[in-house]
Amino acid sequence: MWHYTTNGIYSVKSGYKLEMSKKKDCSGAVGSSSEPRVQNAFWRKVWSQEVPQKILYFNWRAIKNYFPCRSNLLKRKIISEDSCPICNVNSESVIHALWSYPNAQKVWKKVLFREVFTRLNFSNYGDLFEIATMYLSKYEMRLFLYICWSLWQNRNKAVIEGRSCAQDVIFNRAHHLAGEYGSLVKGEPNLIVEKPTKWSPPPVGKYKLNVNPAFIPETGVGGIDAVVRNDKGEVMAAMALPLASATSSKHAEIMAFLFEMKFARDAGFSSILIESDSQWVVNDVKKDEEESWASDGHLIDDIKRSLQHFEDVIISFSPRRGNQVAHFLAKHALNCNTMVTWIEEVPFWLESIVNDDMVVSS
Ligand SMILES: [Zn+2]
Repeated sequence: MWHYTTNGIYSVKSGYKLEMSKKKDCSGAVGSSSEPRVQNAFWRKVWSQEVPQKILYFNWRAIKNYFPCRSNLLKRKIISEDSCPICNVNSESVIHALWSYPNAQKVWKKVLFREVFTRLNFSNYGDLFEIATMYLSKYEMRLFLYICWSLWQNRNKAVIEGRSCAQDVIFNRAHHLAGEYGSLVKGEPNLIVEKPTKWSPPPVGKYKLNVNPAFIPETGVGGIDAVVRNDKGEVMAAMALPLASATSSKHAEIMAFLFEMKFARDAGFSSILIESDSQWVVNDVKKDEEESWASDGHLIDDIKRSLQHFEDVIISFSPRRGNQVAHFLAKHALNCNTMVTWIEEVPFWLESIVNDDMVVSS
């Protein structure tokens, strides 16, 4: 079994690539390693956020710590002590002003994705931003940056005018501005490359299972979910499960497929359409091979065997943007410790995403 091709079979090309990559690693070893490339990717993320220039610049200053919070003013000897002007206790660092101070936390409580961050460790704003880019969608990133910006505006207002806004006002402003800018971006034809594909319902009387894992390569943490919907788009059953031992996103995708199929079968759906956002899992499962030599091939074989337990099953590929519900649940799974299932009774927040996700019939 050869680990450097997707199908597990050796090719001269892949051997040559491997040798060349070894050479590259050695020549760059003296004090530089792969660090610059990682850094470049990070700064590309910083400058590619879809927000106005002033917010991009604000975010960049916060990451670089070029930020007029009191701990930085103290460092430059502009002031003589650095306690936070609002809570008076801690030193006012960037992370204190934009994230950890009590009023900021009250604002962050209003966003669902705050949960993601409270379970992770970060000591400065740059780390927080990097984590955010890993977990959040384009829209959520915009809201994230606008909330940081509004918090800082509010802090200045409190310091200069001696009055600050209520948490609701701060949050609503950020939410409104993020939405407004989003609608402007959508209006620019140059920026839209692909139309988001909407979820399409199965034929009348049939059920559709959407498969969609989330995986964070840096931590090896994954989450998987399953959503079964009927032809009206109603959620019949849903499941979210954390995946602690995924070794790669491919591994997470394949485990997701396996678990979800089992979930749907156990929930009593014997005739089903399975829609996965993983092109390669769909291809491998459909491939007519005796056994697979790929590194997770034994799992593909498992899937094929399990498929025989269904009366009637059709597997198809759908890009990630098509399954908002599944995508959201997969992120939800990242945050839970055990498996969560919903059969028939679906939580309200899931209902609202389901409605957003439906194909608008004209
Ligand atoms: Zn404070």
